[in-house]
Amino acid sequence: MELQDKIKEAARILSGAKRIVGFTGAGTSAESGIPPFRGEGGIWNKYDPNALDIDHYFRHTQDSWKIIREVFYNYFNNNEVKPNPGHEILAKWEQEGRLTCVITQNIDDLHTVAGNKTVYEFHGNMSRFICTKCGHKFPAREIQLTERPPHCEKCGGLLKPDFIFFGEGIPEDAYFNSIKAAENCDAFVIIGTSGQVSPANMIPGIAKRNGAKIIEINMEPSTYTNYISDLYLQGKSGEILPQIDALMER
Ligand code: NAD
Repeated sequence: MELQDKIKEAARILSGAKRIVGFTGAGTSAESGIPPFRGEGGIWNKYDPNALDIDHYFRHTQDSWKIIREVFYNYFNNNEVKPNPGHEILAKWEQEGRLTCVITQNIDDLHTVAGNKTVYEFHGNMSRFICTKCGHKFPAREIQLTERPPHCEKCGGLLKPDFIFFGEGIPEDAYFNSIKAAENCDAFVIIGTSGQVSPANMIPGIAKRNGAKIIEINMEPSTYTNYISDLYLQGKSGEILPQIDALMER
């Protein structure tokens, strides 16, 4: 099938769906200017990924913090980074009552900024900090991001960004809510994720086993393409999602 026919078919499926779930990865934010972690142009080609190992963060806090601050708060978090048309369509579908939630592996907060209300952040969110001692959470904008690692104003404990480091578990609420959403949807849209990160990569299979139609948008085939996806649309999510949306019945 040609891409144009697949776009029409995706629009047909999604027009008839009552409970759409979006499942997003780093590719969804690529057109917003956020690079992937791995592969060409990936962050970990330039920086040591150990900076995000939780034990390393406790033992070599100053070294880790230097990298975290540079990568996530000087570079990612500049004002140029905005939701792209792909994020905006997912927000529109939620406002129209078609989409029940977005399950995201991204930590960049762009779905919420775009207007989505129900976002299950499988790997947390860099726009918050959490105290490693008392668990209190703070908006990142309230934290002084100096060269010295930040500490909690309530208990003095070390703060860390509220996304999961290597060696940490998935946030419980996000985990169980994602499984429930995958079990109860009728269409599941996989967007810009390679499917290599576990356990997030088991969520699309849950939707499939429960009878949902699986639509995938990715520039390259992923681990889902030949096994799980009913319809694979090859291309950029910021271009394909608006084209699908334009053909949907209202
Ligand atoms: P990944 O880097 O493993 O794969 C990205 C996928 O996106 C690839 O399959 C690629 O072909 C596809 N892609 C690239 N540009 C695209 C576009 N414009 N449209 C559609 N698809 C596109 O990403 P992953 O599967 O999400 O796993 C990486 C992990 O790294 C995740 O856990 C995530 O938390 C984290 N991460 C997050 C961000 C972010 O928050 N924006 C950025 C980088 C990495």
